[in-house]
Amino acid sequence: MAAELPFSYQVVRSRRRRTASLMVDMGRVEVRVPALADAGWVESWVRSKADWIVPRLETQTQALERHAVVIEQGGRIALEGLAYTLGWCRGATSEVAIADRHLQLTLSSRVRRDETDAARDLLKQWMVKRAGQRLVARCGELGEQCGLTPSSVQIRDYRRKWGQCNARGEIALNWRLLHLPPEQRDYVLIHELCHLAEMNHGRGFWALVARHCPDYRQYRSALSTAYPYLMW
Ligand SMILES: [Zn+2]
Repeated sequence: MAAELPFSYQVVRSRRRRTASLMVDMGRVEVRVPALADAGWVESWVRSKADWIVPRLETQTQALERHAVVIEQGGRIALEGLAYTLGWCRGATSEVAIADRHLQLTLSSRVRRDETDAARDLLKQWMVKRAGQRLVARCGELGEQCGLTPSSVQIRDYRRKWGQCNARGEIALNWRLLHLPPEQRDYVLIHELCHLAEMNHGRGFWALVARHCPDYRQYRSALSTAYPYLMW
């Protein structure tokens, strides 16, 4: 009998699908197969791909352990690449205080729901507000340095991307960029600013990115393990 696989996976069946495919994303394995694929066949197919799956899953799981935002008393959150501890207490009004690598939340005594949920929401509101000040200002500075001016810069809540730039020259930035070390954050901002000149990911675009951010390759690959910041 075959040994137990060292990971679990989710099977998604689709009537339109003719072949099987695999995805290792955000620490999860997903297998997409035709609707009528035999369960035993799926299992053995996944097993045959284990050498490809396991290292990817390990890299992602390590990233998760390193970067995951942990909302609990004594939990953890990264700001500008630095780890802060997290705690909360009750008080007259809800607020967030930041000092010495610690974020102290005060939850209003009027808040009746689950404290962890309330703490998460308060923290997100605080991050969004902080992003509106810091990220927008930083984008303005970098835009000036690069000679690229967006028509607007807005803060958005994305789960799958750090930012975007559309054909109207509007840049949208994920507030979760506040988690990243400054040089990785700046790379994302420069990336979006460069789309004002090159609305694609062609050679001209990357040459422009390289001109304004010579080490962009390093930051780009570092970002591939930063996905846990997108998950809370
Ligand atoms: Zn892009």
